[in-house]
Amino acid sequence: MGKVKKIAVMTSGGDSPGMNAAIRSVVRTCAYYRTECIGIYRGYQGMIEGDFVSLTARSVNNIINKGGTILKSARSQEFRTPEGRKKAHENLIEHKIDALVVIGGDGSFTGGVVFNKEYNFPIIGIPGTIDNDIYGTSHTLGYDTALNTAVEAIDKIRDTASSHNRLFFVEVMGRDAGFIALNAGVGAGAEEILIPEEDLGLERMLESLKKSRRTGKSSSIVVVAEGDRSGKNVYELANYVEENLPEYEVRVSVLGHMQRGGAPSCFDRVLASRLGVKAVELLLDGKTNLMVGLKDNEVASTDLEKAIKGGHEINRELLRVSDIMTT
Ligand code: ATP
Repeated sequence: MGKVKKIAVMTSGGDSPGMNAAIRSVVRTCAYYRTECIGIYRGYQGMIEGDFVSLTARSVNNIINKGGTILKSARSQEFRTPEGRKKAHENLIEHKIDALVVIGGDGSFTGGVVFNKEYNFPIIGIPGTIDNDIYGTSHTLGYDTALNTAVEAIDKIRDTASSHNRLFFVEVMGRDAGFIALNAGVGAGAEEILIPEEDLGLERMLESLKKSRRTGKSSSIVVVAEGDRSGKNVYELANYVEENLPEYEVRVSVLGHMQRGGAPSCFDRVLASRLGVKAVELLLDGKTNLMVGLKDNEVASTDLEKAIKGGHEINRELLRVSDIMTT
């Protein structure tokens, strides 16, 4: 591999707070090392269409505090085909781009690995997803912000729950991972937390709610991840409780996409800045197929394929803490 002189950066898949701070970091690190930097709009689709922009240190002023992504994001069916990837490669070569930083989730990394295998094109991944479901990093970009957003929203719901003696089911994001539900649930003092990784059983939830009433709690919050394992969606869960515990007046609140937006937390801004520097330095050092992440609060790299396939584990200690807190 020749010396890397021009690096492209893009955001792909679902957006998450902190992506802009990561773009800024990649661009400024390139400028620091006198390496050209190109932004690719709309992820892999923009790569196929040649939707590129030249970025300098001043192009990324005033974005560290902004949610979303100035480079836009997209999901590209065309990039899943060899023809699409061929067009993308031709565009990179035409613009003399030597290496790529992909900010996204496991799908975006999978696309990067496939592309690297076909064209031997150097790629480093920065994990950007609110779900925190990527192996090789304790935190993905946007996770901390999403957690804070969820906790703030649940706090507000608690006000109305306690004023009316109601039980609220609050659905948070997380189709396959319960990180947001578990951490926001503990942080917001939820009665029960339902997550995709574990089926705690509906009977258990009923018992716990009954006990709450017996011991003098007048209102309760149950936090439910989108993909929880109970087999019922949040509305069905609410009906189930109303049928079995008529003493409860039940309401549902689905937080939805608000969890993906908003200004990134300080933690996410700092993380993005650190990961962007490392990503560029690895490429300049001739490295490829790695994801940069945080391990024991140190920036570290993980093999990209391992990051995709490594899976995630929920914190059992936190489940126990949650149990004890609802005594
Ligand atoms: P999120 O965590 O928000 O879902 P993601 O990065 O996992 O983010 P995906 O939609 O799964 O989002 O993937 C983003 C893009 O990566 C896809 O639209 C596609 O262009 C590319 N991609 C994913 N898997 C592959 C694959 N097997 N081959 C080629 N490209 C792929």
